[in-house]
Amino acid sequence: MRRRTFVQALATSAAAALGAESPERQGPRAAKPTKITLLGTGTPAPSLERQGSGYLFEVGDDLIVMDHGPGAHHRLLESGHRAIDVRHAFFTHLHYDHCMDYGRLVLQRWDQGADRIPDLDVYGPPPIKRMTDLLFGADGVYGPDIRARIEHRSSIDQFEARGGKAPRKRPAPNVREVKPGDVIQGNDWKVTVGRAAHVQPYLECLAFRLDAPDGSVCYAGDSGTSDDIVELASGCDVLIHMNHYFSGTAPSPAYRAACGNHRDNALTAKRAGVKTLVLTHFLGQIDQPRIREQIVHEIQQSFDGKVVWGEDLMQLTLAGPVIAKIEGY
Ligand SMILES: [Zn+2]
Repeated sequence: MRRRTFVQALATSAAAALGAESPERQGPRAAKPTKITLLGTGTPAPSLERQGSGYLFEVGDDLIVMDHGPGAHHRLLESGHRAIDVRHAFFTHLHYDHCMDYGRLVLQRWDQGADRIPDLDVYGPPPIKRMTDLLFGADGVYGPDIRARIEHRSSIDQFEARGGKAPRKRPAPNVREVKPGDVIQGNDWKVTVGRAAHVQPYLECLAFRLDAPDGSVCYAGDSGTSDDIVELASGCDVLIHMNHYFSGTAPSPAYRAACGNHRDNALTAKRAGVKTLVLTHFLGQIDQPRIREQIVHEIQQSFDGKVVWGEDLMQLTLAGPVIAKIEGY
């Protein structure tokens, strides 16, 4: 079965089997349901089909990104959004395939926003503050660029043409380093920080649970099997989980402990009692006809919720305790 047909079949059966009411029928609150867009479902391996890790959440009037790996920002534009629309950025860990487009998000937001929008709120594990300083500080990687844009006459003219009022301020993301157990309260949502089992102690690795009025989503970041993820995701409508490789092919126990495989993920989803498991972060070796069908089938043997094979630009719309709609891939 071709990729698109396969995904469509899954999506259709998921939406139909869930028996979701159309959002229009659920009153004013559901008029603007929480929407998740998978911006990047790939790995560090180069791919034109799957970009680096990135997820977009539209909750109420807020636009939140979780992770922003290489190519995720391009997908953000393809999804119809702009850097200046994004208000919050969360990072699970600082592997480059999860944060390489951080610079692009901040700089394009700063440039196009022209002091008319607030600075980006950023949440992530240490050393995200240091990374931010090293990128955007006066002595940072982009320090000379930022100085030129603030001080050169041509750039000031451009800045004023966009509605800015000189002197131009530097980009200054509001960075908060977070740890498991922390809760970030938004206008109409809250994010709870959990712990992923990945490449500690070299990188602190987090997971996030987003609770919105119409549902809850846990993004496990990169993680192998973890009781912490089970606890964080408990009862969630959607669990987005790394499905890096085919069970049984891990080259070592350490690899298995750090990266998700499909049988382990099935158990995690089952133990957490989630309704839908969205698989992501696929190596090319499993992103193949027949293999993906086998993986989904085997997961469904032990996990009785819905299983979604994630694709870049796939949109999942929450409406009440179910996914009402999957589209856009
Ligand atoms: Zn990672």
